[in-house]
Amino acid sequence: MAFTLSGDDVCQTTLPTPIPNPYWVALSPSSAKLIGIALNKAHLPDDQAWLAVLSGNQLSTSEHHFVSPIATAYSGHQFGVWAGQLGDGRAILLGDIAGQELQLKGAGKTRFSRMGDGRAVLRSSIREFLCSEAMHALGVPTTRALSVIGSDLPVRREIIETAAVCARLAPSFIRVGHFEHFAALQDRDRLKELADYLIEYHYPESNNGANPYLELFKSICVRNAKLVAQWQALGFCHGVLNSDNISALGLTMDYGPFGFLDQFQIDHICNHSDQGGRYSYYRQPQIMHWNMACLAGAMTPLLAVNNDEKEVQDQFRTALEAFPRTYAQAWQSQFRQKLGFQSAHDGDIALIERLLQAMHDSRIDFTNFFRNLSDVKINTSTALFSLRDDFIDRNLIDRWFADYRERLNSESSIDSVRKEAMDRVNPKYVLRNHLAQTAIELAQKKDFSEVNKLLKILENPYDEQPEYEAYSLAPPSNSPSIEVSCSS
Ligand code: AMP
Ligand code: MG
Repeated sequence: MAFTLSGDDVCQTTLPTPIPNPYWVALSPSSAKLIGIALNKAHLPDDQAWLAVLSGNQLSTSEHHFVSPIATAYSGHQFGVWAGQLGDGRAILLGDIAGQELQLKGAGKTRFSRMGDGRAVLRSSIREFLCSEAMHALGVPTTRALSVIGSDLPVRREIIETAAVCARLAPSFIRVGHFEHFAALQDRDRLKELADYLIEYHYPESNNGANPYLELFKSICVRNAKLVAQWQALGFCHGVLNSDNISALGLTMDYGPFGFLDQFQIDHICNHSDQGGRYSYYRQPQIMHWNMACLAGAMTPLLAVNNDEKEVQDQFRTALEAFPRTYAQAWQSQFRQKLGFQSAHDGDIALIERLLQAMHDSRIDFTNFFRNLSDVKINTSTALFSLRDDFIDRNLIDRWFADYRERLNSESSIDSVRKEAMDRVNPKYVLRNHLAQTAIELAQKKDFSEVNKLLKILENPYDEQPEYEAYSLAPPSNSPSIEVSCSS
């Protein structure tokens, strides 16, 4: 059931503002399938009304009628500072289909737009669209993207760009910021409604515990701890882990100035607006924990239902303190799989950390190194490994390879079996910034072929696609560095 809370000030009925002359930029066939949209031979919806609906120009297809689109209120901490009320300033929830909420991002002003124009530009819509679908194919929990619709409507950012609407899907778009909103307003009734809604529709197992709200909190923590471990294992930096961008379902959401690491750098900052590096790669787990602390604080008014408040507070604290452990276990499991280990050995963490340090020191391409690591043979001398050539300190990496092979030997690892398993967790293709940028620049000239080609490649990130080998390469060393910021 689509999210709705009592009170028009919270979930406000809001109609999308039409855009002039909308056109298809991209549509994800797998997202279309998820909500039962039939496609024609051109891979576009059979029912042409979808173009108008997904651009916000109409509320009905032949099958669906979205009677009361809404924009919701939320608040949040931005860059660690309480920002007060934010809300869906440019996203409008049309309704739900097949258990997925359909939301249009960039569909015009809402009550929560503050100084904004309610729009999203083509550039950022393409980035969100491609990355949502790429993350899903990588096996990372994420909101999905159904489509990008463009219009020549001018939109002012640093320069004048054009508008687009990105249609997103998720079982729920509820954020930590929704909890913070009602906590800040001391509106315990709405807070309870929100938590009860989440429990009923998304965390029914919480009812099995003595305190369902405590169970809900624990589950949200676990999901987000595991999520951030997956990000680290894929070299994904979100870029803006503000509490209003943290999903209550543990989904990656609100794609903005994200980036996949090319060269591995532990303190890499992908968001040009993040001068202090708050959201740099290695800080993501710590920041997610911080966001869970915000959630715990916001849920506090729900604690003393029937129980002794002090005791329940201690239980919340214990649950919050479990986050680093849950995260560490998930991270270790992810990296053991990346290295092709079947079991857990004591020295594994040190071995992984030595590798990451060496990769950092030599700025090794993160995705390609792990992908190619599956070609290592236990009985081949390290000197033959082409992988070592990119490292500055060859002796150091040779020693690492020797220890790695010994470790593999200790569990009688079989080269071919290990390769197959490793290639299912170490992707060949990720949405590198330079690939997205090329697609965006062509799309800005109305050539959408590259966006659609990238979508196709990224739908099968773990497969070898020999015809698209070039898309797996690191950016050329002379390519200009691409700066992505919060502007979208
Ligand atoms: P974001 O950085 O995209 O997560 O957005 C932070 C807040 O600013 C959210 O409340 C958004 O709805 C709002 N916002 C961002 N861009 C716009 C815009 N162009 N118009 C209205 N609100 C916006
Ligand atoms: Mg946001």
